[in-house]
Amino acid sequence: MPQGQIRKALSGFYYVYYQGETYQTRGRGNFRNRNLTPLVGDFVEFESGNKDEGVVKELLERKNELVRPPIANIDLGVVVTSAVEPDFSTQLLDRFLVTLENKGIEAVIYITKTDLIDEETYRSLKKYQQYYESIGYMVYLPTNDEKEQAIQDLCGHFANHLTVFMGQSGAGKSTLLNTISPELVLKTAAISTSLGRGKHTTRHVELIPLYEGLVADTPGFSAIDLAEIELVDLKELFPDFVQVQDQCRFRGCIHHKEPGCKVKELVDEGTIAKYRYANYVQFYDEIRQRKPDYSKKK
Ligand code: ZN
Repeated sequence: MPQGQIRKALSGFYYVYYQGETYQTRGRGNFRNRNLTPLVGDFVEFESGNKDEGVVKELLERKNELVRPPIANIDLGVVVTSAVEPDFSTQLLDRFLVTLENKGIEAVIYITKTDLIDEETYRSLKKYQQYYESIGYMVYLPTNDEKEQAIQDLCGHFANHLTVFMGQSGAGKSTLLNTISPELVLKTAAISTSLGRGKHTTRHVELIPLYEGLVADTPGFSAIDLAEIELVDLKELFPDFVQVQDQCRFRGCIHHKEPGCKVKELVDEGTIAKYRYANYVQFYDEIRQRKPDYSKKK
């Protein structure tokens, strides 16, 4: 049976890419009973007599999946965040980063709107850039003159990867994507359809082949909750903590109130950024106070 990849989901159809062709398929009836939903990005076994009437028979194992946007098998997340309007926020950035870390997705940070900031703000953003790069994240902070090169470098990450763009509303993600490929924005823009009375707006997810890879846009978020992150996992999602956690006095130290905590020592010393620790504590409290969700499977 042929194995292809779902590159688009729309109106109940899955568009499966296989050997240079796209096949329109439907999901096999019993997926629902098995609590399975085929996602864009899924590798599937499918049957198809012609290109319009195929059936997805089986989903192959996923390496990861995001809920928003619903995409599977993501390799790289580009977090688009603005220098200003809205102001740069490490808390928002860290929300994206821990979400990606939690799924084992590599993250790259791209900071927009640098043409709207003064010299002082630029210098402080440079410091953030240095810190995040020191803990393993590539950060693009291009001035106007550097933009073209930065975008070219960014596209260099796409090859052989499934890349997803994410960012808060107003971060300038659409502008950036438009520069990379107008097709990307166009194809994933909201589609308004008239259904009986009134307008119905839907967004669909589609993977666009670009620079030898596949790229997806996502709607801008106004807030990111940490709903999928378990409390015990949180400390593992901060690479700056993970690097030194072996030196904490207690195994399984959560870097909160324990004595002999290396993370807290390094925060006091200024080696680990204070804002990273503050965000960690805030996320920790947020997850701890969340109501248990018994409906969750697993
Ligand atoms: Zn500790």
